[in-house]
Amino acid sequence: MVKAAKIKELKGIGEKTEKLFQKIGVNTVGDLIRYYPRSYDVYEEAVPISELEEGRVMTVTGAIYGRVQVGGTPRMQVTTLYVKDLTGTLKVIWFRMPFLRNTLAEGGVITLRGRIGVRGGGAVMEHPEIFYPSAKYEEKRGTLQPVYTLTAGLTNNAVIKAVKQALDHLDLTSESLPPEIRLKYSLAEYNYALKEIHFPEDKESFYHARNRLVFEEFLEFILALRKLKDGSDQLKNEYVMEVHPKIEEFIEKLPFALTGAQKKVWGEIAKDMSSDTVMSRLVQGDVGSGKTIVAVLALMNAALNGYQGAMMAPTEVLARQHYESITQYFEDYGIPIKTVLLTGSMTAKEKRRAYDRIECGLAKIIIGTHALIQNAVNYDNLALVITDEQHRFGVKQREIFAGKGSAPHVLVMSATPIPRTLAIILYGDLDLSVIDELPANRLPVKNCVVDTGYRKTAYNFMKKQIAEGRQCYVICPMVEESESLEAENVTDYACALQEELGEGIVVDYLHGKMKQKEKDAIMDRFSRRESHVLVSTTVIEVGIDVPNAAVMLIENSERFGLAQLHQLRGRVGRGKHQSYCIFMSGSKAKETRERLDILNRTNDGFKIAGEDLRLRGPGDLFGIRQSGLMNFKIADVYQDAKILQQANEAADWLVRTNHEWLKKLPKYEEPSSVII
Ligand code: ADP
Ligand code: MG
Repeated sequence: MVKAAKIKELKGIGEKTEKLFQKIGVNTVGDLIRYYPRSYDVYEEAVPISELEEGRVMTVTGAIYGRVQVGGTPRMQVTTLYVKDLTGTLKVIWFRMPFLRNTLAEGGVITLRGRIGVRGGGAVMEHPEIFYPSAKYEEKRGTLQPVYTLTAGLTNNAVIKAVKQALDHLDLTSESLPPEIRLKYSLAEYNYALKEIHFPEDKESFYHARNRLVFEEFLEFILALRKLKDGSDQLKNEYVMEVHPKIEEFIEKLPFALTGAQKKVWGEIAKDMSSDTVMSRLVQGDVGSGKTIVAVLALMNAALNGYQGAMMAPTEVLARQHYESITQYFEDYGIPIKTVLLTGSMTAKEKRRAYDRIECGLAKIIIGTHALIQNAVNYDNLALVITDEQHRFGVKQREIFAGKGSAPHVLVMSATPIPRTLAIILYGDLDLSVIDELPANRLPVKNCVVDTGYRKTAYNFMKKQIAEGRQCYVICPMVEESESLEAENVTDYACALQEELGEGIVVDYLHGKMKQKEKDAIMDRFSRRESHVLVSTTVIEVGIDVPNAAVMLIENSERFGLAQLHQLRGRVGRGKHQSYCIFMSGSKAKETRERLDILNRTNDGFKIAGEDLRLRGPGDLFGIRQSGLMNFKIADVYQDAKILQQANEAADWLVRTNHEWLKKLPKYEEPSSVII
């Protein structure tokens, strides 16, 4: 079997299953073996019932106590069972599995593994995996089982089976890295790495395997980036523009004074735009540092000089928000620059209209999502392209965007705190500007790290804030199994919260499965203050700006990386009100507290990322969401900073020695980005 073989060629995969695999981006057997697990289940030792912790997946062994009960409604039958050990009794429930009644007998010793929840005040294990009789657990104890990202209808077991077959039938003996490099950095062999990444023997071999794959991914990325740089280095500036006098007037009229850092960065951009070579610049600035206005100045400058400028954002919500704040400025200050919005969810007719205006040059500023780089869009005289939240896009998309013009100025913006040394590698082709100062009128966000016992108090606090006119965000516990489960979860949570807060308070919710129109409507309601609480998944992580929102409650914060929590927190503390962020954690473990406590102590994104790395150590990859930056398949910019540096070194060596391996370098395939 070859890597290009369609996965239908594997046993047990018919047309229907093939479609499901296609949905998760797996078309060929080669795709499948590179569909790495999202995490691993560790089949730990069973714990006494008295030591169970809410929110965690744990294992207990005990005797079945009393009869197995089946209740609920005919559509949703609930099977309930009690298990007892020397330390206590645990309630266990399953949905839609009434047949269990016939297999589980009173008094039998059973082992159950599942997530611990709380219902009606008591601990419950929901939908656990069953090992009955208990001895069956022995086979799995101590092993690591892969957990894949799924889609509705596709089970983890189905993926496991398919991957096993693929690994058995593929010839993986050919090594893809030069031996010198493998030796120098002690990298595992390719076939070993692939096998171990899916089915690790133990943690040690997992890390060994992962290191190799991370190294390779970074190396390919860096080499692709260097090619890009060779192409764009020192391109002549075809759009030399001086700062238009209207820009100064505009800055004067703004309701706030630019910070020193904003002025400095705008100065750097203005200088680039008027210099002999074309701009390629990265603007890095923490959440809330005010990057948008700097981008607006650059766009205006292009427009006032008679050119077009376009800005691409990773989500529709964010694109629309940018569009609206820009048009609002222009309306307020009577600036006649035609601005259009272009997003994927617009109707064909709306899009057509936007295309026409872009093509004939009537539209001077164009704001949108990935829709901006589709084939159908032709620009008239595009002189500036800006990507907001660059870490959510791939390098390739940035390249396509620039290709929409003839060597336009390129500006990319990112809130991701990456230390300078890493930024130079990851954005090697760009000059770096840093907005290292927050607007002066900001009150620092007040934080607290609490456990779930605090939930009631948190709700009361939210009520009080809402009574004072503020609004709140709640970030829902994550459901990683699938997007539709996650959606269900957000809906349920919002319902329960609405009940809890009472009639007078409007609770809305937002999740990735909603139609764009719905999402926009919800965001609009929230920014017009027609709703008070927005329950959401991490969809709102990127860029949303509602200055009146003053409280953020994050459920299950222990499952996020600190950098991500910091980004989330950045949604509050944007206005003149004192803001609060409540990090709620389902785990009482000391390390978790310590880790979250870093957020308590500092608001500095750079520091947070560094501390997170230090505390977690390079090893601890289990049970935590990675930073999700830059769309790497397996590598993580923070976690794998050291490997990134090694890969950079290796790339230097390969290029310097003009290594023959470079010629057969596999085409770099960037993971496609997530669009929400
Ligand atoms: P980010 O850097 O996260 O993209 P934004 O550009 O969205 O931040 O800015 C956050 C908020 O701060 C916006 O409401 C914006 O109007 C406001 N803002 C930007 N610059 C200043 C400033 N110099 N003084 C006060 N408020 C500012
Ligand atoms: Mg922003």
